[in-house]
Amino acid sequence: MALPFFFKGKNQILNRCRDDSVTGMRLKYAPYYRVIDAQQGPRITVGGRDMIMLASNDYLGLSFHPRVIEAGRDAMLKWGASPTGARSANGSRAYHVELEERLAAFLGREACHVHSAGYLSCVASVATFAQKGDVILADKNIHSSLWDGIRLSLATCERFSHNNAADLRDIAASLSPAAPKMLVVEGVYSMEGHIAKLPEIIGVAKEHHCFNVLDDAHGFGVLGRQGRGTLDHFGLNGDVDILCGSLSKSLGSTGGFVAASRDVIEYMRTHSKQTIFSASLSPSQAACALAALDLMQTEPRHQERLWASTRRYRDMLHGLGLDTWGSETPATPIVLGSKERVYRFWQALLEKGVFTVMAIAPAVPPGKDLIRTAISAMHTDEQLDRIADAMAYAVKKL
Ligand code: PMP
Repeated sequence: MALPFFFKGKNQILNRCRDDSVTGMRLKYAPYYRVIDAQQGPRITVGGRDMIMLASNDYLGLSFHPRVIEAGRDAMLKWGASPTGARSANGSRAYHVELEERLAAFLGREACHVHSAGYLSCVASVATFAQKGDVILADKNIHSSLWDGIRLSLATCERFSHNNAADLRDIAASLSPAAPKMLVVEGVYSMEGHIAKLPEIIGVAKEHHCFNVLDDAHGFGVLGRQGRGTLDHFGLNGDVDILCGSLSKSLGSTGGFVAASRDVIEYMRTHSKQTIFSASLSPSQAACALAALDLMQTEPRHQERLWASTRRYRDMLHGLGLDTWGSETPATPIVLGSKERVYRFWQALLEKGVFTVMAIAPAVPPGKDLIRTAISAMHTDEQLDRIADAMAYAVKKL
């Protein structure tokens, strides 16, 4: 008997879930959503085995710093577990204001707003300010959160080749000078580890009077004085209208921020759905981020160690003949070129107790299937040696 139309509709959606090739791949290879049973910095336990985490974004290793942990615990005792509401309603606390003021001052901006996820900060940074009729010029390798912001904005989007100012110039020159334009780029591209060529790209954007949005999730804490990020690295501070990022990487917490002029932040607070209708950052998230920001400013050894270990790690990979896609930062891909090679390499590393993440097309361009790795300042010399042994083993297995 034929199903009534409403049953068909439901089944069509359920079948999408059942047939999804990603789900199939997950069941076959099981590389994603792996549960870590215990952790102490980069030392983790997975399925009863002692392993080294080589895929986290805890660049400065601050998520396990005693002062960060203590700050998070104290904040929970003082404020409870959650603000249980949006900033616009019942969820604004003094600790939000303190973190925002500290971040704004650190980044040389008039104002800042924090969200409970970097993803929200990035969506809001684009979706709130561009609208139908505007043109967004976006690097084709930007993060999914920025793509979501672009789609929500209803603006037209023109993609330029990754990190290519000449392509941006050609595309911008073909557009109507009258259309409001927004540039959307990252400071450090997390899959590739590339530093954006900001002087050239921002130079073109300025010629075309673009409103510039920079997501510096992976440059913050890593580049620039005391970790002020990619703009500071290039000495470009005033040339971006919105600087957004995440608290879940170098700051070892979770959450996100948007730093800009006071007008821009006020407009976001009154017009952005992500900002108005989502519960605010929890006390422990904010307190951990604040403590980590203090450490970034007072303990330069974390950033120094991060870079020393990154250089050592990258030299080791190159010594083994591995392709790191020209990565210039601690986010270090190992490009292997096919899903099968990536899987074999990933499994060999797992066998040797090194935890990494596979990134395969369409998450990366075809032929660029890779293992994503990232160094943390917390990796010890002994762990870096073990990682080197595991890499040599995986190369042999390949
Ligand atoms: N932007 C970039 C470039 C990212 O890599 C990420 C997270 N991987 C985000 C934004 C979102 O940040 P969060 O994980 O804090 O939501």
